[in-house]
Amino acid sequence: ERKLSKKEEEEAIRRNKASERNETEDLRLVSRQEYLKKRQQKKLEEIRDEIEDEQYLFEHVKLTELERRELSYKKQILEAVTKRAVEDENQNEYRIPDAYDVEGGVNQEKRFSVAMQRYRDLAGDKMNPFAEQEAWEDHQIGKATLQYGSKNKKRSDEYQYVFEDQIDFIKASVMDGDQFEDGQPADLLESRAKSELEKLQEDRKTLPIYSYRDELLKAVDNHQVLVIVGETGSGKTTQIPQYLHEAGYTKRGKIGCTQPRRVAAMSVAARVSQEMGVKLGHEVGYSIRFEDCTSEKTVLKYMTDGMLLREFLGEPDLAGYSVVMVDEAHERTLSTDILFGLVKDIARFRPDLKLLISSATLDAEKFSDYFDSAPIFKIPGRRYPVEINYTKAPEADYLDAAIVTALQIHVTEAPGDILVFLTGQEEIETAEEILKHRTRGLGTKIAELIICPIYANLPTELQSKIFEPTPEGARKVVLATNIAETSLTIDGIKYVIDPGFCKMKSYNPRTGMESLLVAPISKASANQRAGRSGRTGPGKCYRLYTMFNYQTELEDNTVPEIQRTNLANVVLMLKSLGIHDLLHFDFMDPPPSEALLKALELLFALSALNKVGELTKVGRRMAEFPLDPMLSKMIVASDKYKCSDEIISIASMLSIGNSIFYRPKDKQVHADNARLNFHTGNVGDHIALLKVFNSWKETNFSTQWCYENYIQVRSMKRARDIRDQLEGLLERVEIEQVSNLDFEVIKKAITSGFFPHSARLQKSGAYRTVKHPQTVHIHPSSGLSQVLPRWVIYHELVLTTKEYMRQVTELKPEWLVEIAPHYYQLKD
Ligand code: ADP
Ligand code: MG
Repeated sequence: ERKLSKKEEEEAIRRNKASERNETEDLRLVSRQEYLKKRQQKKLEEIRDEIEDEQYLFEHVKLTELERRELSYKKQILEAVTKRAVEDENQNEYRIPDAYDVEGGVNQEKRFSVAMQRYRDLAGDKMNPFAEQEAWEDHQIGKATLQYGSKNKKRSDEYQYVFEDQIDFIKASVMDGDQFEDGQPADLLESRAKSELEKLQEDRKTLPIYSYRDELLKAVDNHQVLVIVGETGSGKTTQIPQYLHEAGYTKRGKIGCTQPRRVAAMSVAARVSQEMGVKLGHEVGYSIRFEDCTSEKTVLKYMTDGMLLREFLGEPDLAGYSVVMVDEAHERTLSTDILFGLVKDIARFRPDLKLLISSATLDAEKFSDYFDSAPIFKIPGRRYPVEINYTKAPEADYLDAAIVTALQIHVTEAPGDILVFLTGQEEIETAEEILKHRTRGLGTKIAELIICPIYANLPTELQSKIFEPTPEGARKVVLATNIAETSLTIDGIKYVIDPGFCKMKSYNPRTGMESLLVAPISKASANQRAGRSGRTGPGKCYRLYTMFNYQTELEDNTVPEIQRTNLANVVLMLKSLGIHDLLHFDFMDPPPSEALLKALELLFALSALNKVGELTKVGRRMAEFPLDPMLSKMIVASDKYKCSDEIISIASMLSIGNSIFYRPKDKQVHADNARLNFHTGNVGDHIALLKVFNSWKETNFSTQWCYENYIQVRSMKRARDIRDQLEGLLERVEIEQVSNLDFEVIKKAITSGFFPHSARLQKSGAYRTVKHPQTVHIHPSSGLSQVLPRWVIYHELVLTTKEYMRQVTELKPEWLVEIAPHYYQLKD
């Protein structure tokens, strides 16, 4: 058997990573061109779909005269748009602009055809498909032996001896640093051995914010609302709550500080508890969904913005708080935007409540304007200049380019850690494995490279690794999601690699479809990322795109989440807070009214709202659950079907997402068989999840059992924690916990929440959703993907290579009419 070459092994690593996650294809968008093309195609498809839908409606549904007129009008518009889009397409929109030639001197198309030609030449000449590979290996071996004679060579040459690939960058500009006195306070030089706590206290004094402590406290004293702006790492999140605590603000209430991300809330709380020398969960704690690490003693509470939002339900005036700090306001998450409206309102009748809005970017005027011209407190920055480099030509594969660039920096650049921005866990794990693979066996040829991943689902024990100082002679490379853009400050970063992408939620209010897509970042994000390299000294940023890309393709700012998401959740919450007139809610940037209407429509269909838009008893119960409305409805409905015990197990398992099963590379067949065991009888994915949970419970929550069945024990423990909380909430809304193992009854309860998600098999083998007709498929990871029942109900739609339904269960169509007669009528 032929031994795999290094490149083939890496390819295998990638394939494995993708299949471990049950994806059929590598879903990463490989190039910017492709991204733009896909986006354009998707738009066209949407338009075509719309027209199809219209026809479907004309044929199948009884319409009022008004609706009919409206639809035909819409159709006319759509036809015109399609015509224009087709014309545009014919004009060859995707031709690579000439500007690339000017920009980098390299034409991407040409580059590609040269590469193809080279491949053909090699393959054709030698009639050996591995010729190129072998040539590459020979080349490598040749270079490796040359290594010994190259001690006096320039460092950039050295790189070439170790690694083949190289990316050329153009140094484009230098981002100015801020004016400040360089140098550290003298007492840092003291050599007296210090306790850990003393050292941390001294570190606090070196932060930029420290010099402004008294001024800041005075400003908080004098003003009820204050907007605070400062460079990432200046000490806003960790220091301000401590200053206020030291100044006595916690004597009459807690200080709450919100974060858009779970990991940030946990990590910052851990740091602050260390600085204060207290146990995490005592004076300093954190609260994230399904995990409350606070106690009676807690006075500094870090929490996700979503959690503070939920606290309004129990305490509409936040009476327990003396200060609320809405941190990372520039992120503009949905929850933060809603919080703005709510805290602004309570500040009016609670003059004793202090409100701090803190943000990393400089668009503070907008926040100030919104909060009735609140004063802006600017913490003077401390950032060194950052050199910006762009690639000469667009990179076809940003993940590979990022890896090559990291190694290039490692071998050729001065000491200093590297921060790489990637889009998600899968990508980070792939990059980690490939980096390890490429540096393996190089021994002392290169310095040690310490690889530190950081993403939301990383186990807490591993998260602190990124903060550990890098040992002398080694270099750290942090592979991070957007979390490292502003939420977490990592010291010692000198090099930033920015591929220019992030995962972004998008929502189509027409179809109700939400998807998480890899999309280009904004200019504001790109500059934030670059800034991360200039905290402790002059830095360098490597953008894996051209200057032309930056200038012409990136938006100035990221669109706030409220304008691109499903609003059903927050509408239910606002309604239960007694806010009825949503169209006139004080939004900083209002959501599209179509999305609001869509949310109201769904809540009405779920019987959470009545005809005049008031919260019903069902809706009130639903709002108690920190879950999406359809899941909450499913739980509330389980009361009627007397199967609440099973339904909360299913809800907890669904909340975990798709990280329950795993497929190790060498045991995929075993893993697949183990998984199929739970699907015996084609019970559907929901029941299979229930069986997994119950079987685990029967083994008394055994880790060994998980291991034998290729199930991630960490995910299961999380599901169990969530389930415990849901049990508590059942009691609160007075639903009796009853068990019933009749699958049909359980499926009916599921249908009570998910009836809007029904789909019917087509002749083509694809499915068509019933309510907002579009073509979808059963996800290959589903137990029913080979069975193809005539009618199904699905948990969610995900857009990857196709539109897939994930977590699918067979349905009897008469249930739809029985359970939701107001939503589905039999055609006469
Ligand atoms: P800001 O909110 O202004 O961006 P932070 O208060 O988060 O700044 O960070 C201030 C300093 O605290 C940073 O220099 C960072 O090194 C340090 N720090 C923050 N969190 C941690 C942590 N979990 N571990 C170690 N150091 C941390
Ligand atoms: Mg911060």
